Amino acid sequence: MPELPEVEVVRRDLERDVIGRRIKAVEVDAMRSVRRHHNRKQFISRLEGKKITAVDRRGKYILCRLDADDVLIIHLGMSGQLLRTKSSRESRAKHTHVIITFQQGGQLRFIDPRTFGEMFVTELDSLAKVSELSHLGIDALDAPMSWEQFGALVSQKHAKLKPLLMDQKFLAGIGNIYSDEILWGAGLRWDRMSDSLTAQEVRRLYRSLVETLQEAVKHRGSSLADEQYVDLFGKPGDYQHHHKVYAREGETCRRCRQEIVRERVGSRSTFYCPACQV
Ligand SMILES: [Zn+2]
Repeated sequence: MPELPEVEVVRRDLERDVIGRRIKAVEVDAMRSVRRHHNRKQFISRLEGKKITAVDRRGKYILCRLDADDVLIIHLGMSGQLLRTKSSRESRAKHTHVIITFQQGGQLRFIDPRTFGEMFVTELDSLAKVSELSHLGIDALDAPMSWEQFGALVSQKHAKLKPLLMDQKFLAGIGNIYSDEILWGAGLRWDRMSDSLTAQEVRRLYRSLVETLQEAVKHRGSSLADEQYVDLFGKPGDYQHHHKVYAREGETCRRCRQEIVRERVGSRSTFYCPACQV
């Protein structure tokens, strides 16, 4: 599933590539991908003829501003991909559900095998009414704060660190991969209680949060063998080669040379170093 860094890479690609382009035609093959609209026509008519003027992000939601004061909101869900093609003749990948053709040529395609992702158009003024957007937690790539402010928020909670990092209402866009990587970077165990951290540990946690996400964006996100993430041009990311713990069970810790372990909690695996994460 794409997490915050992968969505930010796609947003930056879109910002460079689609701003100023006018939408000529839209095709929708599966109602599920535009499920917030009454019908396909309603979705299509709000896009055709409009120009994309800006590409923003809120958590894992990509917001394409249109010149009619509407916003096209895109959520990749579990397996969604946005793919830019130079020509409309390029063959369509399986599970291509929405195709946006630009007047200047080329297409933006939405491919989503598991269909948890979606696209919808709303008025700019009504964004506050989209409940998923109004309940998002801190965006560590977008909204800088001091580590003291972050520490105050962490210590108010009484929760294990990994589930707290993955709580979307606390922090936006962190999933199973980056929570493990952030905690390794901070030298903290996944099950430490949030209100037990010293000031120094809070500082390490905040620094690791910001640095891990920024590094991941720099390396264009993580693409795993069994997952779908690629960038706007179909290229996989490179950050998986820089993971310190995720999916490295039995391998050597890059900090202390102990063996990385995997612990199953519920349906989820957690990877950490039992020696240098305390
Ligand atoms: Zn270690």
